[in-house]
Amino acid sequence: MRAVAALQEEVRALARERDAVILAHNYQVPEVQDLADFVGDSLGLSRQAAAAAAGTIVFCGVHFMAETAAILAPGKTVLIPDPDAGCSLAASITAAELGAWKAANPGAVVVSYVNTSAEVKAESDYCCTSGNAKAVIEAIPPEQEILFLPDLFLGLWLERETGRKLKIWMGECHVHAGIRPADLERWQAEAPDAELLVHPECGCASQAMAFANERTHILSTEGMINFAKASEKRRFLVATEVGILHRLGKEAPGKRFEPVREAAVCKYMKMITLEKLRDSLRDRKHVVTVPPEIAARARLAIERMVAIG
Ligand code: SF4
Repeated sequence: MRAVAALQEEVRALARERDAVILAHNYQVPEVQDLADFVGDSLGLSRQAAAAAAGTIVFCGVHFMAETAAILAPGKTVLIPDPDAGCSLAASITAAELGAWKAANPGAVVVSYVNTSAEVKAESDYCCTSGNAKAVIEAIPPEQEILFLPDLFLGLWLERETGRKLKIWMGECHVHAGIRPADLERWQAEAPDAELLVHPECGCASQAMAFANERTHILSTEGMINFAKASEKRRFLVATEVGILHRLGKEAPGKRFEPVREAAVCKYMKMITLEKLRDSLRDRKHVVTVPPEIAARARLAIERMVAIG
């Protein structure tokens, strides 16, 4: 415990020395979340990156998030403590695959979930997160055909929520897809006093049963936190990556939060450790850059995301 505190102090001192702001995603390990300047979801952290006053942004999250920060904060140095922290969802579509899909659907508008590479964003008209995906779809004229990528489950949920027919890419996040309807059914039966908070990327979110119960709420991670804080209920079951439980416990103290599936752990998010964060600040590594021509095109789609909802 003392070793963790000493390391956290070392990281804070280095951050001050290096004029760095530390951004951490909700799925980061608790000891990283606890020392970050800002903890949030992709949308919240994108906004923080765009507004950052510091000269350096250290992004404790996965690679596409650091890329997004680099695009939104040109002229700043963006560091990621481990460059191998990837994302199975972002890896499910390449720019070449998107190019072929667009060619097969001329005139369609492309809406990309933020979990995509900079090259895929550059080929997109809009980006969105789970926090504003519905608002982004609703901002597009109803007669306009939409290609939605890369998450199958989020796409199916959006169709249900907006009443729009979308063309959906068949990608998925292995962590969220691993949360199955059976996990929810078990918990619904075992915890009749609990509210169920489900992320729309979950394999269960598109199932009718998830919507059939008034105790079930489909929410982004930031939405889960706001809901739990405002709710009069005391017990919550959480269907997303388990890192969010730490923040829920801090933001809504005295309430009880339990994962529906304890194995819902993103190994990529957990690649960021305090030691790697310290080394990143100390040695100014690993710098994340995006080629200017790609960044310019991706920025348009990302700025639309940051502006909506
Ligand atoms: S939880 Fe899934 S979508 Fe999120 S970073 Fe990990 S692999 Fe990607």
